[in-house]
Amino acid sequence: MSKKKAIVLIIMDGLGDRPSSKFNGKTPMESAYMPNMNKMARNSISGLMHPFREGVVCGSDTSHLSILGYDPEKYYTGRGPFEALGLGMKVEPGDIAFRANYATREGKTITDRRAGRIEKSTSQLSRGISFKVDDVEIQVASGVEHRAALLMKGSGLSDKVKDTDPHEAGKPYNDPDFVHEEGRKTSYILKNYMERARIILDSHPFNEELKKNGKLQANELLLRGAGMAPRLENFGKKYGMKAGYIIGIPMIKGLAEMIGMERINVEGMTGSVNTNYRGKIKAIADGIEKYEFILVNIKATDVAAHDRDPVLKREVMERIDEAMEPLSALKDRALLVFTGDHSTSSVSGEHTGDPVPIMFYTDGINKRESESFNEKSCGKTGFSLRGQNVMDYALQISERLEKYGA
Ligand code: ZN
Ligand code: ZN
Repeated sequence: MSKKKAIVLIIMDGLGDRPSSKFNGKTPMESAYMPNMNKMARNSISGLMHPFREGVVCGSDTSHLSILGYDPEKYYTGRGPFEALGLGMKVEPGDIAFRANYATREGKTITDRRAGRIEKSTSQLSRGISFKVDDVEIQVASGVEHRAALLMKGSGLSDKVKDTDPHEAGKPYNDPDFVHEEGRKTSYILKNYMERARIILDSHPFNEELKKNGKLQANELLLRGAGMAPRLENFGKKYGMKAGYIIGIPMIKGLAEMIGMERINVEGMTGSVNTNYRGKIKAIADGIEKYEFILVNIKATDVAAHDRDPVLKREVMERIDEAMEPLSALKDRALLVFTGDHSTSSVSGEHTGDPVPIMFYTDGINKRESESFNEKSCGKTGFSLRGQNVMDYALQISERLEKYGA
């Protein structure tokens, strides 16, 4: 049997966009100079992809789940677990995770939900309030400013507990009461934990210093959005392929780890707009010798759109395209799938529910070519699919799918 083609799924985060007045009503993709991707589009099956369902505005977490073939409606258990993954925590099935905020408390009242949007890293506070209560290990990790996540590891835990966050300043914090009998243990552990954590936070040198400088203290950790980390089937087993990933941003990297993909190292990869694009592309070319599937996420496109900077997004697209030049030579050994996880408007700075351009590029296919790789041209081919069908579509093009029927 001849060697089957490897599948390389390149997700440019927040790829699709809307018309910008800066480009005379064109999108960043439409106005970008992308000779390499445009050439591949003319030899590909191109169209539009709805990350989940038509019109749904996806986050990166739900869209990646969907595109990798894990139904978000079944596996997405709230932002907690993904927030924790995003902060680099090791999240395992059955763990309970919360989104968290450092806040300022006077008596029982929350006077500032964000502790004055604290500038200094709170990681020493988070380390100080990571400890065990009974048989449950509780870990806290810090994000930017006041943001954090709390993770509980132990047996018999549940996400059926209330937020301690009152969601409004001037109100007292809530107790983490259970909302269903199965949350009884979790509620008990958390109450104990919070009592001890408050004592530690109140006398922590970090807070003493804030006090000395006349700043708001970070003496309360508000919890919200509890979720139980889902048990996701191993990706390699699910599709019968040895899978690796090239991903800079922690949340998606954490997801890839959870489904058992192996990390492919790339020097200088940052997830920012100055990431090492060429290094990533070289790692793909080397990687297909070892892996049958490679997931790549390039975050910079989404970052530029969130900053409402269509000009930067266009520049990022052009730099990605330049780095992609060597990829087309892989067409006899690999199927390259180029798409985004969702659209992000660089006009509003928000994700939108618009479908995202997609192209399947390899040799020996029935072309459904697009003049260039952008929203408008890809829409003209009339080909469209949902995120949850991307894997099947890629598998059948690379002749990896079993026959359905006789
Ligand atoms: Zn995204
Ligand atoms: Zn985004």
